[in-house]
Amino acid sequence: MKYQPGGSLIPLTPFHFSPGLLTKACGPRSFWLTSFMAANVLIDVEVLYYMSRNELPLHRSLHTYLGGSAAGLVAGLLMWGLILFLARLMPPTSRWKQRLARTSQTRLLLQSLIAGLIGGVSHVFLDSLMHADMHPFWPITTGNALAGSISVASLHLGLGLLGLFSIFLWLFLRDPRS
Ligand SMILES: [Zn+2]
Repeated sequence: MKYQPGGSLIPLTPFHFSPGLLTKACGPRSFWLTSFMAANVLIDVEVLYYMSRNELPLHRSLHTYLGGSAAGLVAGLLMWGLILFLARLMPPTSRWKQRLARTSQTRLLLQSLIAGLIGGVSHVFLDSLMHADMHPFWPITTGNALAGSISVASLHLGLGLLGLFSIFLWLFLRDPRS
């Protein structure tokens, strides 16, 4: 696969948010969408870094299930720390702060780590459908048999529609008191 600046290989991270939006809309309320999104952004920093240096391949260790999972856990840990820090700055009357206070910090950490992990693994899976320069199962095996199994346009269209649908679903299903 040729690399074309501005082409399909640039990281379109927001498309990766769609499965997270759907999970937030239909899944457990405790799903940390922020950690899911942070994991996706963190993994694509790798691509931006190698693009800025004009070095190929663009998808390296973080675009493997091993590296993506590790990045997801790091993102989950960072978001957990950030959210707890921000909660400290909120007034005691904040409903958001009160809701966080009802759950133990360990449980919050676990929730954030799980969301980050899901973000990391789903990122690697979705990217592996597009990018031939990935080795998702490294270090067990190299190569990427899934690359090209769906066209990039179809994948982006599908994820874009899924994202829009999930946002509407979320707005429709959410409890207005929350
Ligand atoms: Zn990526």
